[in-house]
Amino acid sequence: MTHDESPVGTWPLDPDGLALLVNVHPPDWRNPRPTGTYDFVIVGAGPAGMLAARGAATLGRKVALIERNLLGGNCLNVGCVPSKALIRTARLYEQMRDAEDVGVPPPEAVRIDVAEAMQRIRHLQARLSRADSAGRLRDHGIDVYFGAARFAGPTKVSVEGAVLRFKKALIATGARPMTPAIPGIVAAGYLTNENAFKLREAPRRLLVIGGGPLGCELAQAFCRLGSHVVIAQDDPMFLQGEERDAAQILSDSLARDGVEIHLNTQVVAVRTQGKQKIVELASDDSKLSVSVDEILAGIGRAPNVENMDLEAARVEYDTGTGIRVNDFLQTTNARIYAAGDVCLEHKFTHMADATARMVLHNALMRGRRRLSALTVPWCTYTDPEIAHVGLYVREARQRAIPVKTFTILMHDVDRAVTDGDEEGFVKIHVREGTDRILGATVVARHAGEMINELSVAITAGIGLGELGRVIHAYPTQGEAIKMAADAYYRTRLRATARYR
Ligand SMILES: Cc1cc2nc3c(=O)[nH]c(=O)nc-3n(C[C@H](O)[C@H](O)[C@H](O)COP(=O)(O)OP(=O)(O)OC[C@H]3O[C@@H](n4cnc5c(N)ncnc54)[C@H](O)[C@@H]3O)c2cc1C
Repeated sequence: MTHDESPVGTWPLDPDGLALLVNVHPPDWRNPRPTGTYDFVIVGAGPAGMLAARGAATLGRKVALIERNLLGGNCLNVGCVPSKALIRTARLYEQMRDAEDVGVPPPEAVRIDVAEAMQRIRHLQARLSRADSAGRLRDHGIDVYFGAARFAGPTKVSVEGAVLRFKKALIATGARPMTPAIPGIVAAGYLTNENAFKLREAPRRLLVIGGGPLGCELAQAFCRLGSHVVIAQDDPMFLQGEERDAAQILSDSLARDGVEIHLNTQVVAVRTQGKQKIVELASDDSKLSVSVDEILAGIGRAPNVENMDLEAARVEYDTGTGIRVNDFLQTTNARIYAAGDVCLEHKFTHMADATARMVLHNALMRGRRRLSALTVPWCTYTDPEIAHVGLYVREARQRAIPVKTFTILMHDVDRAVTDGDEEGFVKIHVREGTDRILGATVVARHAGEMINELSVAITAGIGLGELGRVIHAYPTQGEAIKMAADAYYRTRLRATARYR
């Protein structure tokens, strides 16, 4: 296997690596010559840009899509896809070690091969990138330009010497990992999601900085792949903003896996000693120095707003919060819209998708869809998964909405028991005295699947009582939602009985 350098990134150019490259940035690609004015020019070909380009072409519009690096953006290349694939492999190793729990004699020896896991990731990326390859997009009538886009005026954008004029445009340039402001870390070197999936073996000792979704998911995965993982989080709990008991379950689960947890702890300095990185940690009452082989920073993501001459387009932005948009996703230039990570607080692929759809409606179909009307679920893909949708209790209280919560523990759900997935809960918050669902948190092995039912209910205005009338297949972990609905019914029956 050779490790040739691709023009835009480094991965082995084996058959999968080559297939991936040909799909996401063909080495021999020639940009089209712009003719006339485009109906819609899209800058950035991540999930938001891709969806918008395909949608606009389907509507029969003349469309250009500009990408400076790899089609598919973060999600396909360095985000959701590689992380979820790595988590799958790591989970299997963990299950092999715990085989006895489900009545299987443990294998004699488990040999971990991280290079194989990374190879599988490339294989999956090559496969998933086929649908939106450069060639397919061109066949769909989209003019695909590779190169960094810069605005040359309110209705013009330039790429690789070509000037594209547009009636409407979309900025979907996404976000990148934030650089940690820790003395010594840049000189010592550190990993982010942009290079962690190119490792060929798990670091012997790994420090993860940040206990958000990315930090927790990768801390658990690398621990299961054999690293000794230390995680430092400056907050008193993981997943800031999540329900406290959900974060506690995650903390317990990471500790059980063997992750060394430092909450309320800041990384204050890094230096190198030979090949080791010596990291100084500080909390309120103690100072500690740990020695690791690699550091993985997962401290947040910064919107890609620089080097685009947005001023020339009269598009206002902030380097922290991204492109300024109104509720219709219009920027300060009414012809130019933004979608996805570059303008959103909730940086998720499903939000990139949802906002790109909104832009198609609002920019090309005279729609008036509002960002504030969206119901936004999310999920952290740890073991167990932690998913949420709608309001938290504290948010409902801030809005003076009276709340009643129905909680079902997963250890009371038959399928969770038979699967040995008893950790977690389903918590559904309703407006007190009604069955209107305000929000929900699910902590379960498949919480990400289960939250969708609650998102449907909130979006469609289906009450918890109505969910109780839906027959749920037995045995499924989703029955926990029906059990919460039954708990709601019991309160109604008691209330009715009191009046008799
Ligand atoms: C490790 C990790 C795991 C994740 N897991 C999940 C998950 O499980 N579920 C989930 O929903 N989300 C997840 N995310 C978030 C998800 O990847 C992003 O929300 C999503 O990719 C955002 O899509 P986007 O189209 O807005 O931007 P991006 O995917 O960032 O794409 C933007 C594109 O614009 C291009 N670009 C930037 N500037 C220019 C320019 N000037 N000219 C031309 N092109 C430009 C970039 O090269 C890039 O290809 C994860 C993120 C990370 C980092």
